[in-house]
Amino acid sequence: MQPGLSSTGELFDSLKVYLNNKKRLQPIIGLGSIIECVKVGEHCREASYLCEVCVCRLSKADMRNHISGSLHRYNYIKAWHPHLVCEWKENSDLSRLAWPLMEIARKIEAKEGSGDVQLIEVGDVLYQKMATLSENDAVTLIAAVKTVRDWQGGPECLSQATSGQLEPHSGHSQRTVLLGSHQLPKERELPRC
Ligand SMILES: [Zn+2]
Repeated sequence: MQPGLSSTGELFDSLKVYLNNKKRLQPIIGLGSIIECVKVGEHCREASYLCEVCVCRLSKADMRNHISGSLHRYNYIKAWHPHLVCEWKENSDLSRLAWPLMEIARKIEAKEGSGDVQLIEVGDVLYQKMATLSENDAVTLIAAVKTVRDWQGGPECLSQATSGQLEPHSGHSQRTVLLGSHQLPKERELPRC
């Protein structure tokens, strides 16, 4: 980790005030599915943003809009709480489902919170490769990089990562910093279909 570099990432930092605003109307869920991919060793910080559940690559500004959109809510709920949308048709018109999606998202956020954006640092070569790949391939590649780094971190690191307890390791610039990523949600009390 470079001196002065945020341990939680720019996207998460930029959202903190918004997330903590008690008058916020929009529920925010699935931040744990967002990956902030940072190029290391640059004076001018460069980052791209991937959403694992939507399989998309966006700028920071677009990702800020993305997380409160119906598509992201639907994909996250479908991935992690499928019983809540199991009666919906596969190709439903999400614009007509914006309200029910918002209500489901509100309940999920109340139970599990918004999640934490994953921060991963990559070298120049890998960063450039990510930029040239399709969104689908880029998400697949970064998932593979995370898996490899988890194993390289050893069993202790892996168990910490899976339990979401991993602290940012300063001085290990090549190590993935997983912040509460992909914790399996606990059993919900929300109505089942
Ligand atoms: Zn998304």
